[in-house]
Amino acid sequence: MITDSRVLALQEMTPEALARCLPVTPAEARKIVAAVHRGSPLTRLEGVRRTALAAARAGGHVPTLSVRTVRASALDPFVKLALSTEDGHVIETVRIPLERAGRFSVCVSSQAGCALACAFCATGRLGLARNLAAWEIVEQVRMVRGTLARGQRVHGVVFQGMGEPLANVERVLDAIRVMSDPCALAIDSRAITVCTAGLPGGIRRLAREAPKVRLGVSIASARAEVRRRLMPIDEAQPLREVIEAVEEHARATGLSPMWAVTPLAGVNDTDEDAQALADLVRGFTERTGIRPRVSVVPYNAIDEAGRDPFARGDVAVFVQRLVAHGVRPHLRYSGGSDVQAACGQLAGVA
Ligand code: SF4
Repeated sequence: MITDSRVLALQEMTPEALARCLPVTPAEARKIVAAVHRGSPLTRLEGVRRTALAAARAGGHVPTLSVRTVRASALDPFVKLALSTEDGHVIETVRIPLERAGRFSVCVSSQAGCALACAFCATGRLGLARNLAAWEIVEQVRMVRGTLARGQRVHGVVFQGMGEPLANVERVLDAIRVMSDPCALAIDSRAITVCTAGLPGGIRRLAREAPKVRLGVSIASARAEVRRRLMPIDEAQPLREVIEAVEEHARATGLSPMWAVTPLAGVNDTDEDAQALADLVRGFTERTGIRPRVSVVPYNAIDEAGRDPFARGDVAVFVQRLVAHGVRPHLRYSGGSDVQAACGQLAGVA
């Protein structure tokens, strides 16, 4: 939300957008956007007319989110930031260390809460408060960047925090344009991943408008009745239709999608589930010539009071089952579980 709708949130503007909205030339817009993301004041910039700077100051501002807590995990180097929006919602962002020292990925939220109510996710218990504005998404990356030491940098972004990004696709695409613009955050589009519960329209838009950005899909189970129980969205958007859109995405972009599955004991971790997932992988690969990357994500407790709806499935056993059916998944480490920073745990609790 931009507090004052008459002024632009400058950190959500690409140079092209800025030059459309204000009386500045494209070259000036590039310099102004670069200054905004460097944190330089818009007072004097070489090669930018004083009138252009005055227009940027009068027509724009750089709003921010306030930090409620920063919680570092004692288990691993994951850090969770709980941030307040101007209208009082708490959203969460996770700083994820990458293998290469000094590089980080940022797991961003795209909505305050979420309407999709996936049974294995703490955010799903909140319901949807509202979509985040593009600047609120971009600002999460900027704030994580502000926690880094000299020489460290944000290498990638994953839309896997609170909310369903493709239910807020317009703002998510705006944020991606700014993140990947060389004058703004300069993050390689190929290091940005949008993870969805499966909204076919949004998947198609992503393929058209951000074709270098990677796609992740929460499969939960390839068995329709099991998936429906875990992900109510499957009622409106059955997996069959989601997979059709994911196939179109793969053909259009040439990128291999990531398919996430979280084994829950006795729910979706049986041999039948592994077989159904392997069949889905095989069919997808035959039809597109592209093999999806199956990612097995351990379940993280979502109820701090200990009344969890599920028990963690045996990840090693499920992986073996998949391998026996011809699929080689990779096991995703989801860190920060002691500070509720891991996959599925973000609940806006500072
Ligand atoms: S897993 Fe994603 S889509 Fe499902 S409830 Fe959680 S935030 Fe929403």
